Amino acid sequence: MTLTPPPLSNDCFALPAGVNWTPVDEALALLRDRLGPVTGAETVPLANALGRVLAQDAVAKRANPPLPNTAVDGYGFAGGKPEGPHVLPLVAGRAAAGVPFDAQVPAGRAIRVLTGAALPDGVDTVILEEDVNTDGTQIAFNGPLKHGANTRKAGEDVCADDVILPAGRVITPADLALASATGLAELTVRLPLRVGVLSTGDELVEAGAPAGRGQIFDANRPMLLALIRQLGFVPVDLGKAVDNREALRAHLDGAVSRTDMILTSGGASAGDEDHMSALLQEAGAMQEWRIALKPGRPLALGMWQGTPVFGLPGNPVAALVCTLIFARPSMGLLAGAGWQAPQGFEVPAAFEKRKKPGRREYLRARMRDGKAEVFKSEGSGRISGLSWAEGLVELGDGAAEIRPGDPVRFLPYGSFFM
Ligand code: AMP
Ligand code: MG
Repeated sequence: MTLTPPPLSNDCFALPAGVNWTPVDEALALLRDRLGPVTGAETVPLANALGRVLAQDAVAKRANPPLPNTAVDGYGFAGGKPEGPHVLPLVAGRAAAGVPFDAQVPAGRAIRVLTGAALPDGVDTVILEEDVNTDGTQIAFNGPLKHGANTRKAGEDVCADDVILPAGRVITPADLALASATGLAELTVRLPLRVGVLSTGDELVEAGAPAGRGQIFDANRPMLLALIRQLGFVPVDLGKAVDNREALRAHLDGAVSRTDMILTSGGASAGDEDHMSALLQEAGAMQEWRIALKPGRPLALGMWQGTPVFGLPGNPVAALVCTLIFARPSMGLLAGAGWQAPQGFEVPAAFEKRKKPGRREYLRARMRDGKAEVFKSEGSGRISGLSWAEGLVELGDGAAEIRPGDPVRFLPYGSFFM
């Protein structure tokens, strides 16, 4: 018997029919709908709260400012002053930040006040020292001066019992200032999301290990572990698994107790050696997502004993794009921080490209001289292009013919690290 090649199918050059492919936005909407926080909570001192996700609204214990005070160095008295010259006798003493003046300032008199001092009783208006002449016993200045000038009202920034930071907020240095100013010494935050990373493939060897012919060094695992750390989550190195269903099963079984989510790369298609998708399928909770994007298909999404598994494509370029576009916002939801979409912006293209309809495309790109350049090759094995790039250009699902100067959407890598 002679082997003959199978006939070409009629549609071998056709684009996959739109209906069989999930558009990127639909896939994102599904993830957004179905995922939610999975991490517990703990209370930590402010010093340990940077970058953590608030588990419940933070409520001010105290107003900011707590008392009416002066915004400048100058002289305080009661009431505004009309246009024209004014002379006011000074009372002895002064009010400074942290050193209040505890007596009443009589009407028609003024007192020396320094920035941040609580306004003494009888004072509601302050004139700047630069606008005043004084001999030490009285001050002279010209009006007009508005009632309340140069003062801050109690609670004009925040009132006691105001929600200062909503649940889900990722704590910034400025948030720590706000929490501390309003009387909070600790915050209740979620436990950090633990994200496991597993590489799969018989061909993979560890960097530094001897590599035989036909073997390649694992590129995805160092990249994904570092990315997870940069995103503020906890990377968990799950090593690599060979293309064997039982080995893979053992890896996943061993991973669920120490991870909240697992990223695997490789073996996600429907081929003979695509054990990851086969295994997730067998677990009964697998969706093979044929997402209309380039580079990136396929993505195998499944639950392994209650832990979400994102089976990423093996190609490093596709693995990174799928992680940024799909896994990153999903991590935000699982971590309790909500859906965090990257903020892209429209910039002129420095390149030319013709694109067919049907799939959204992400090109390795960077900004130079106000324009988006793209990497010279779109090959999804070209790791040098990932490293060259500083972001992605996103081309919409439809057809496009882009010429230099046309607006394109640029997503800096940094926009994924909010
Ligand atoms: P797969 O998705 O397993 O069919 O792999 C697609 C391509 O990506 C193959 O050329 C693999 O050798 C390559 N690949 C898979 N995993 C990795 C990895 N961790 N690092 C570098 N290349 C990989
Ligand atoms: Mg493979």
